[in-house]
Amino acid sequence: MAFIIIGGDAAGMSAASRAKRNQQDLEIIVLEQTEDVSYSACGMPYNIADADREINDLVVRHAQVFREKQGIDLRTGHRVESIDRDSKRVSGKNLQGEEFDISYDKLLIATGASPIIPDLQGFDLPGVMALKSLEDGRKIKDYMRAKNVKKAVIIGMGYIALEMCEALRARGIEVDMVKPRPVFLPWMAEELASVVREEIESNGVGIHTGHKIERIEAEGAALRVICPDLVLEGQMVLAAIGVKPNSELAAKSGLDLGPSNSIAVDRSLKTNDKDIYAAGDCADAYHVVTEQKAWVPLALRANRAGWTVADNITGKRIELQGIAGSAVFKVFDLEVARTGLSVAEAEKSGFDPVEVVIKTRSRAHAHPGSKTIHIQIVGDKKSGRLLGMQIVGKEGAVHRIKAASVALHAKMTVEAFSQCDLAYAPPFSPTWDPMLTAANQLLKRL
Ligand SMILES: Cc1cc2nc3c(=O)[nH]c(=O)nc-3n(C[C@H](O)[C@H](O)[C@H](O)COP(=O)(O)OP(=O)(O)OC[C@H]3O[C@@H](n4cnc5c(N)ncnc54)[C@H](O)[C@@H]3O)c2cc1C
Repeated sequence: MAFIIIGGDAAGMSAASRAKRNQQDLEIIVLEQTEDVSYSACGMPYNIADADREINDLVVRHAQVFREKQGIDLRTGHRVESIDRDSKRVSGKNLQGEEFDISYDKLLIATGASPIIPDLQGFDLPGVMALKSLEDGRKIKDYMRAKNVKKAVIIGMGYIALEMCEALRARGIEVDMVKPRPVFLPWMAEELASVVREEIESNGVGIHTGHKIERIEAEGAALRVICPDLVLEGQMVLAAIGVKPNSELAAKSGLDLGPSNSIAVDRSLKTNDKDIYAAGDCADAYHVVTEQKAWVPLALRANRAGWTVADNITGKRIELQGIAGSAVFKVFDLEVARTGLSVAEAEKSGFDPVEVVIKTRSRAHAHPGSKTIHIQIVGDKKSGRLLGMQIVGKEGAVHRIKAASVALHAKMTVEAFSQCDLAYAPPFSPTWDPMLTAANQLLKRL
């Protein structure tokens, strides 16, 4: 059986490795358009923060290891341009311009996502860059070194933009961030978002919300981001507006699409073609709270989806529960964490959400080193179910949220969650963990 995989990063290489482990005699061909495979995109902001670190440190497993040790036919520099579902063939071109055409028994589309670049003047200027692939990271590091960048503008305020503002500040670069929408972190409870904003501003970053970007102009060595009532200047502009799924191949071959044009898959990662699977950032998933389809492009679910495809094509029958929308990031000294639904998302999904926001301490009363921790908890008035949680603080936010994620997978009520036996010792939390305090307060309002 020939198992062909399009895309050689998190989802694609997880699938290839596991399929080979499951079934040694399986013929596996991975077609990857770039020369990079199996690297940690998530580590790029931290690598960029350190001028002396090699970007190639982020490669988790090199191409020759897949080829020589694992027996996977990994073809880098091979871009797939079409899928013919009738003849079960994929075709495209390699970097030398030679055409290829390969038949498959089972196909996995693991093409990931691409940065959104607005169709506006100046976004193609040298020095205007996006951060998605390892090659993007390489270009950004080379450019910063060559131009000795001292001032930068970031367009967008999502988590990659925020991680990059910290990375650039670590390199002593002045940073301004700008975006058209008026609200800083629209998915976040207002009190928590203002804590994040303060942390960023107190680290010398300019935050400019509510400014429509009209164009970017080059003037000598400077790039100028032009808004109707604001002009921001830097030697480098990072476009971090968001990503869109690479689903064109799937759409052109008649496969169904889901939210945000991601490829629609069932719980076993199968598309509407029984021989074609899709996994990772290009595909959708079920949300464990809403049971509806959602598109959340993050790393763990890409790796897990790759494994699941491998298991399913090698004879196991695995169905995934789905995602809880859990996401965490660090910005300067602050940990930011979320799982489940915000109030607005819960309303949109037909729940009757009630929220509580608390501010408390990360460690026991009077224990040295304790930090402020902010928690928003959301529950459903009709069913009593726990719907979501957000935590912001200088310690203990990120690892705490994982308990709430598990509770969402278990479809717990707020009451059941409030009775969980969470561990306590003074250096780690108050006797009542802050999440339990938040749950107890929410119970009074449900
Ligand atoms: C800067 C940054 C920081 C991040 N931080 C985090 C984090 O902290 N936590 C987290 O959970 N996630 C994070 N992510 C997201 C995470 O990296 C992605 O969710 C994950 O890489 C998705 O894996 P994937 O295999 O689906 O897609 P990708 O990693 O995008 O891989 C897709 C591959 O397919 C190839 N490809 C596309 N089209 C074709 C074609 N037609 N032919 C051949 N090859 C093709 C691409 O070249 C690419 O190598 C971050 C991403 C970035 C960019």
